[in-house]
Amino acid sequence: MPITEYVASLSQNPYFGAGFGLFGIGAAAAVLRKGIQASVILFRRQCMITLEVPCRDKSYQWLLHWITKKGAKHTQHLSVETSFLQKDTGQIKTKYDFIPSVGQHFFRYGGAWIKVDRTREQQTIDLHMGIPFETVTLTAFGRNKQIYYDILEEARTMALKQHEGMTVMYTAMGSEWRAFGHPRRRRPLKSVILRAGLAEKIVTDCLDFIGNPQWYTERGIPYRRGYLLYGPPGCGKSSFIMALAGELEYNICVLNLSERGLTDDRLNHLLSVAPQQSIILLEDIDAAFVSREDAPKQKAAYEGLNRVTFSGLLNCLDGVASTEARIVFMTTNYLERLDPALIRPGRVDLKEFVGYCNQEQVELMFLRFYKDAIAAKTFAANVVAMKKSVSPAQIQGYFMFHKHSTPEEVLADIDKIWTLG
Ligand code: ADP
Repeated sequence: MPITEYVASLSQNPYFGAGFGLFGIGAAAAVLRKGIQASVILFRRQCMITLEVPCRDKSYQWLLHWITKKGAKHTQHLSVETSFLQKDTGQIKTKYDFIPSVGQHFFRYGGAWIKVDRTREQQTIDLHMGIPFETVTLTAFGRNKQIYYDILEEARTMALKQHEGMTVMYTAMGSEWRAFGHPRRRRPLKSVILRAGLAEKIVTDCLDFIGNPQWYTERGIPYRRGYLLYGPPGCGKSSFIMALAGELEYNICVLNLSERGLTDDRLNHLLSVAPQQSIILLEDIDAAFVSREDAPKQKAAYEGLNRVTFSGLLNCLDGVASTEARIVFMTTNYLERLDPALIRPGRVDLKEFVGYCNQEQVELMFLRFYKDAIAAKTFAANVVAMKKSVSPAQIQGYFMFHKHSTPEEVLADIDKIWTLG
């Protein structure tokens, strides 16, 4: 049969005709589907803007809280974050924070509808926090990215407002800093009673340092300043640093140098990524190392462990260069145990002794607890007459013991200051 006749006969065949028709419809549907997919992709690329915030980003929590408070406040699908807040009185308060649950939420912002997708990956775990990896994706119509800047900025301001008047303590977790515990109410500088003029001297030095970045850049000196507070325990070294941070409106990054797993590289990295406006606090610095001159053998054994080496610390301290003021505080109970290389100028610029109470300090402490100026003078004179060293912590302990006593009763058994433990 000639080919033209064969085709003609096929087209007259109803079964073949129907099959061909179906094939045609299927092909058209596939083309249409592809076309729609391509146009959706094109539309998304050209006409929508998305912002993806992974849970490791600093703005992640701020954004979630902002979305619940400001944006999707009518959303009915929430998850809860429970935290405990310890007041100064020791009372514990439970706090519930609601954040949008995993899934989709919508809200309007600045006249635009925004879709929120909070997704959680079950397979991947954030190693630092030990929780599944999450992301929040915001999608909006338009091409103006400004909307996201505005949202992030509002979220940040809201988070900062929440911590206004508070000092946040950070601790090193892996290669980053995480806030630990709840932000504490700023401790007033006046509540830490040091020998006359000492607090003012340190505050003035810090303020002068913070206010003079140019002096450092012009001379090519790293913009940082090191402080060392030394003296017996319980005399207010840590308390003063807390109060100072409050005064400067700084937060505190506490680093324990004897922590296992804290290598030189990690220390270097941590110091370079410390949150802005924070004091780096290296407490009990003597415990982390043995003086080079004192015990070379012991030190060699120490360096074999997976810990920060002494030379590593010196390098890190020398290298802490940043565009913003970097303040490093170190404390020790034993100045003589420190290697001279650690406390030479440039690494430690100001060394101050924070010692036992003098008469004036005892008097001021008395006045903070009992408003009786005459009794305060007598008390201070009596304490000094005992000719025994006394730390502010011991005096505080004694006053707490006499919480409900009259000034006369407090004056009556000052022997107890040294026996209360
Ligand atoms: P240090 O760091 O010198 O060992 P802390 O700052 O930890 O001492 O003080 C321990 C306790 O004693 C804190 O509760 C603090 O309030 C109190 N204290 C210590 N020194 C002072 C001080 N100079 N003025 C007021 N309170 C103090």
